[in-house]
Amino acid sequence: MIEIDKVTKTFGAGDAAFTALRDVSVTIRENEFFTLLGPSGCGKTTLLRLIAGFEPPTIGAIRLSGRDITRLPPNQRPVNTVFQNYALFPHMSVAGNIAFGLEMLGKPKDEIAKTVDEMLRLVRMEELKHRKTSEISGGQQQRVALARALAPHPEVLLLDEPLSALDLKLRKEMQIELKRLQSETGITFVFVTHDQEEALTMSDRIAVMSGGRILQIGNPREIYERPSERFVANFIGESNFLNGQLSAGSVTLEAGGTFTVEPPQGVADGKVSVLIRPEHVTVAGTGAEGAALIATVENVVYSGEATVAHLKLKTGEAIKARASNLPGASGLLETGAQVGVSVAPGAVTVLVD
Ligand code: ATP
Repeated sequence: MIEIDKVTKTFGAGDAAFTALRDVSVTIRENEFFTLLGPSGCGKTTLLRLIAGFEPPTIGAIRLSGRDITRLPPNQRPVNTVFQNYALFPHMSVAGNIAFGLEMLGKPKDEIAKTVDEMLRLVRMEELKHRKTSEISGGQQQRVALARALAPHPEVLLLDEPLSALDLKLRKEMQIELKRLQSETGITFVFVTHDQEEALTMSDRIAVMSGGRILQIGNPREIYERPSERFVANFIGESNFLNGQLSAGSVTLEAGGTFTVEPPQGVADGKVSVLIRPEHVTVAGTGAEGAALIATVENVVYSGEATVAHLKLKTGEAIKARASNLPGASGLLETGAQVGVSVAPGAVTVLVD
């Protein structure tokens, strides 16, 4: 429904020119919770601003439901934005803030009143309708900002790191809340974050960006379990990278063990690097069945919910094994011990690079 077609954005000119987006193409579907994920400076906000119409692309086109909106001013697009700092009017009431945009659009008074109440119900803020926004909490302000952006019933809602000012617990609550709002309203959400866990929790699909490019687009499971390249794997979750030899649908690791894999397109037999997530690695006795690799324990880190063992393979490669903690179970791993390492079936991913 939103088509970004071969978009490049360059700021400035001559020696000062900086290209923030390079030949970016993506189609965001109707009713989708779509996330742009990447490190600071990768171009996420720039892409969002192009969709909003605050900036024109240097090259390329943007279409909404088939209509070319590349040069359409922001106020003529059925698109609204929630900014990181909410930008509420502190002296106005919650209801006044939500009504403001509708009043600007010249909507009739009774319709505005009805929409304001509908939005207050949607974000569960009915009781604080008459409170000034300077007198409510950060989480409540966030809800008001959302209600205000949703009030004109946009087709697309753009959200630029809207939860970054909230503490961890509130952020988790709001993640669930945002997902609920998106599915209840059926509005397409384009969400920008650098927080991989936030992206995995909320999104239907994620575009992982780096250096002004989109590296991979997929649903959370695809992005986490089958990252196409090392950058994506590294950015999302904990990773082990090992060297191996690919031959006819199997990888034999330099450190030992042969594993069935589904190599991505374009990767030929020969030397490859593979990803194995630490939670798919288990430590056992050296003679245990399925323990295809032998390693030495370097150190063991307890973090409440999990224990991570840092191991060294005979090739000198490092590998981490992550196990959930059972109450009362104490760690059996000793630094310096020789252990067997087994890798869950299907857990070896061949990377493109
Ligand atoms: P963050 O998470 O830090 O907000 P981001 O991924 O959203 O990062 P952008 O804000 O899109 O990144 O910026 C991408 C790059 O483009 C940055 O290197 C930034 O300095 C540059 N940039 C953005 N706006 C301009 C501008 N108006 N003029 C020149 N360079 C700009």
